[in-house]
Amino acid sequence: MKSHAKVVVIGGGVVGASVLYHLTKIGWKDVLLIERAELTSGSTWHAAGGMHTVNGDPNVAKLQQYTIELYQEIERISGQSCGVHITGGIMLAGTRERLDWLKMAKARGRYLKMDLEIISVDEAAKMFPLMDKKHFAGAMYDPIEGHVDPYGVTHAYAKSAQIGGAEIVKKTRVTDLKARPDGTWDVITDHGNVHAEHVVNAAGLWARELGRMVGLELPILAMEHQYLITGDMPELAGMREQLHCIDFEGEIYIRQERGGMLMGTYERAGVPWSAVTTPWDFGQDLLPNDLDRIAPSLAVGFEHFPALGQAGIKKMVNGPFTFAPDGNPLVGPIKGLKNFWVACGVMAGFSQGGGVGLALSRWMAEGDPGADIWGMDVARYGDWTTLAYTNAKVRENYSRRFSIRFPNEELPAARPLRTTPIYERLAAQHAVFGDYCALEHPLWFAPTAEEARDEVSFRRSNSHPHVAAECRAVRDGVGLLEISNYGKFDVRGPGAAEWLSHVMANRVPAVGRIALTPMLNERGKLIGDFTMCRVSQEHIFLVGTYAAETYYMRWFERHLPPLGVSVRPCAMEYTGLSVAGPKSRALLQSLVRDDLASAAFPFMSFRRMEIGMVPGYVGRVSFTGDLGYEIWVTTDYQRALHDSLVKAGRDFGLKLFGGRALNAMRIEKSFGTWAREYRPIYGPFEAGLGRFVDFKKDDFIGRAAAALEKESGGALRLRSFRVAATDADAIGDEPIWHDGKTVGWVTSGAFGHRVGESLALGYVPASLAAADSGFEIEIIGERREATPLSAAAFDPSGALMRA
Ligand SMILES: Cc1cc2nc3c(=O)[nH]c(=O)nc-3n(C[C@H](O)[C@H](O)[C@H](O)COP(=O)(O)OP(=O)(O)OC[C@H]3O[C@@H](n4cnc5c(N)ncnc54)[C@H](O)[C@@H]3O)c2cc1C
Repeated sequence: MKSHAKVVVIGGGVVGASVLYHLTKIGWKDVLLIERAELTSGSTWHAAGGMHTVNGDPNVAKLQQYTIELYQEIERISGQSCGVHITGGIMLAGTRERLDWLKMAKARGRYLKMDLEIISVDEAAKMFPLMDKKHFAGAMYDPIEGHVDPYGVTHAYAKSAQIGGAEIVKKTRVTDLKARPDGTWDVITDHGNVHAEHVVNAAGLWARELGRMVGLELPILAMEHQYLITGDMPELAGMREQLHCIDFEGEIYIRQERGGMLMGTYERAGVPWSAVTTPWDFGQDLLPNDLDRIAPSLAVGFEHFPALGQAGIKKMVNGPFTFAPDGNPLVGPIKGLKNFWVACGVMAGFSQGGGVGLALSRWMAEGDPGADIWGMDVARYGDWTTLAYTNAKVRENYSRRFSIRFPNEELPAARPLRTTPIYERLAAQHAVFGDYCALEHPLWFAPTAEEARDEVSFRRSNSHPHVAAECRAVRDGVGLLEISNYGKFDVRGPGAAEWLSHVMANRVPAVGRIALTPMLNERGKLIGDFTMCRVSQEHIFLVGTYAAETYYMRWFERHLPPLGVSVRPCAMEYTGLSVAGPKSRALLQSLVRDDLASAAFPFMSFRRMEIGMVPGYVGRVSFTGDLGYEIWVTTDYQRALHDSLVKAGRDFGLKLFGGRALNAMRIEKSFGTWAREYRPIYGPFEAGLGRFVDFKKDDFIGRAAAALEKESGGALRLRSFRVAATDADAIGDEPIWHDGKTVGWVTSGAFGHRVGESLALGYVPASLAAADSGFEIEIIGERREATPLSAAAFDPSGALMRA
């Protein structure tokens, strides 16, 4: 084994092998993969090898498409067969909701150029004769599904990497990792040490243990997973290879395996494997079968596919593989650890392994993953992912692998975990809570305790009239919203303003003022949007997206000057409440001594004030787009602040409102939000944030690229639409049609209760930036007329919020 390498990849499963190959492909030749045993000795060797392109996140779906297309390339380079069988696949729906879900998946596939088709039960039965038609309502056909040989794929990646210059060392275990002061690593193994510039943790089942070597507790857990292979079935004799099949109601997947069928299940009563530590002596081992555990799924399977029940079980496999709490991979650099990268928690290695390798290699070599991989970025998690939290969430995710997640569905596991001081107060007012970064926050308020629950649906649900009442209360009077779930950062020091001016695209506001700003990467793409509140010359309070806190801190760390500036996340130190609506000023004025008249405290002002007995910061800004205020107090004061606002609010008809009403109101104002309208695939001019890019500054990250985008106008344009929807509104990811062709996609949608219309925001090509007709938005399989709006639906001039 060499003593020095630019990169050491730890782990020779399908993911590590893919990372190694992609590093050589991008031109990094001095790369070494260290494998404890033989290649595939973790979860890879016993995988069922199924692959598909459909994924709930369109950006992950793109990387899955890439992975499947890659197999030809690595077969050609390596001469090693990947055993690719593209059989096509069908997904069977047993309920109307599932059929709706499939229609939505098909619609999303349109702008991803996927060739998906909704078919009838009769058509499905012709394609997949093993099914008993009476259990199903319809199906979706995907021509690009199939399976591969896990051994073949891993070795094809590995050989292609070796041909590209990589070295692979087997039977060598990494036992420790030691960081040097210059950010390089000593990789300690049982067969000598390697000094590496970069380390990649692709240790699959042992990724958690590798993380612990550097003080990291990665949120991953292995679950036992079982599949069986039936005896040979006479029904298959003389037939073409059977399609892949997913039966959502049965929670099973099925494919042909030689003369029989392979059937696997994500059972409800899933069992974690090695919940705390993974034994190092686990090798190419299987776990004891537990037929009883999967018996309920098998019973449904044998009913839905009767021939399988007659075929007998030839073989069973029970093996572990890892999941993150949301089931998506963990990829990227780790905040606080220089040159340490992860590529783990990959639960669908044969659909996603290629995309993970591509993104990580670009990130390492070019400083950017080159695609929008927010859904798999390791930085989407924070401190709340304790071992027990991860355990509860992974078990929930596993058991729901084939369940529908409705847009208004909040999942119950690991809750409530984080609460603010007013949680009980809000619960007593019949709040229905959502969890965001494991923090409970109110979504809407029901009139009675009995009504305080969501009836899950793709259509307008039971919360609709109550959210409407909340929006009307804000429009006509005053509403109170908890905003503790925003991210907050405390930026201080003599160079704070200069530094922020370099990191953010807009100018840093004067003391006592607020400015909105995009944050751009070097490619001029949106990697954040913030509210900068200038407390004093050397102190700025930043408000942004809480879910992106680690993601932002990782970026800040990379760009911090050595001395003179400190940036500290302080989301839970400051909890917040917002009052919004035409009566919000009078309400707040009744509690503060400062003059709140517009002349004295105009729109976008920020000041320390005393609200009754409570000291806090008050900003004159509201995401609802009304006259409104955001009040930030240290957490110990939040209850007192809430109580005094509620008490004073009685004279003003104050009504509590929640996140659903806020979402509807910000869409009425065409205000975008992170991870929906603002993502690293869009530029600021495309996203309508061009006015917040200050080219008078001659230095900020992304300036040159943003200037080019300004000149060209960019390729896309964010537009607002009024939609002729009936009982279901757009929610996001629906295709936008123009003159009969799919041209774009919805980023957010909701019913705008203040204006009484269904609304959507979405991206279309820049060539359609001014088109004023011919648009449609496809909602649950129906194309609905969509009228582009030239200005926000509510208060287009912004007069109300500036009043
Ligand atoms: C029963 C079953 C069925 C499955 N079916 C499918 C399917 O149909 N389709 C699909 O896409 N996925 C399937 N999977 C999941 C798939 O197996 C995983 O997504 C994939 O194996 C993840 O690969 P990996 O490289 O991340 O991890 P692993 O395969 O676990 O590889 C990690 C490697 O790192 C090595 N390693 C660990 N620690 C060290 C160390 N300290 N030093 C050196 N080396 C180390 C290990 O020996 C191992 O070889 C299935 C899994 C199971 C168990």
